[in-house]
Amino acid sequence: KRTITRLPEWLKTPIPSPGANSDFGKIKADLRGLNLHTVCEEARCPNIGECWGGSGGKSAATATIMLMGDTCTRGCRFCSVKTSRAPPPLDPHEPENTAEALARWGLGYVVLTSVDRDDLADGGARHFAETIRRIKSKKPTLLVEALTGDFAGDLDMVKIVAESGLDVYAHNVETVEGLTPYVRDRRATFRQSLKVLEHVKAVRGKEGIITKTSIMLGLGETEEELWEALRELRKVDVDVVTFGQYMRPTKRHLKVEKYVTPDEFELWKQRALDMGFLYCASGPLVRSSYKAGEAFIENVLK
Ligand code: SF4
Ligand code: SF4
Repeated sequence: KRTITRLPEWLKTPIPSPGANSDFGKIKADLRGLNLHTVCEEARCPNIGECWGGSGGKSAATATIMLMGDTCTRGCRFCSVKTSRAPPPLDPHEPENTAEALARWGLGYVVLTSVDRDDLADGGARHFAETIRRIKSKKPTLLVEALTGDFAGDLDMVKIVAESGLDVYAHNVETVEGLTPYVRDRRATFRQSLKVLEHVKAVRGKEGIITKTSIMLGLGETEEELWEALRELRKVDVDVVTFGQYMRPTKRHLKVEKYVTPDEFELWKQRALDMGFLYCASGPLVRSSYKAGEAFIENVLK
């Protein structure tokens, strides 16, 4: 098999810089002071200028905060987060510190995500929910998306998060069903992830909350497998889907099977919209949270 070594042109991006109207400096200083971490910075996300700067207006500025530490109990083969069976305990001040900081920054939309914490009895569901409640009580206008793991299939934990007052519940299937055992940690299954997304709608009602998922392309999935994944997601009323290029973090991770062209990304976006998804972000550099604030404001609030 041919090994791909060179990046195609469309993946070579300029060094990210914040937009002119962003609170970049303030956010950075606060993050250090409060021991908070953003995925945007830690993953050196190339979209930081567009997201933090709010290219669709300041109320659309988006950042992704990582809760519950930097050590995961799982080991997905596409992910470079460090893993351990027993990560350090939760910081009990994190829900309040996060809410405090977010109330000060000028963001319009925040994504809260976390590592998987299979070591905790509730998988961290209460910590997530507490953070969301505190954010909403300090700044009710801030739109909140939670991007959670599957809580090992424990739907009562999904319910705890779903009822905490958030606007968007995201859970990523990451890839098509057939590749799931090779791509994600063995404790994760495509069916279990569908159940998580289905349960959110069962708890909040079909119109009561937006559900969202992300799929990485370029892992070797076939067109038919991708169609099938999208059909299954629509069956449980998932509203939003995003597609991005899988990028290999290190040589120890899964190989990139294909660099999907910008045209193909555009085609899948059209297909998703034709299938009834409310909106779809799709492109080589798109990540689950890419300009999520702008997308929400344009497609849900209007
Ligand atoms: Fe990475 Fe999430 Fe998998 Fe943990 S569960 S290894 S953070 S993708
Ligand atoms: Fe942050 Fe996500 Fe935007 Fe990247 S795409 S800058 S991680 S909010």
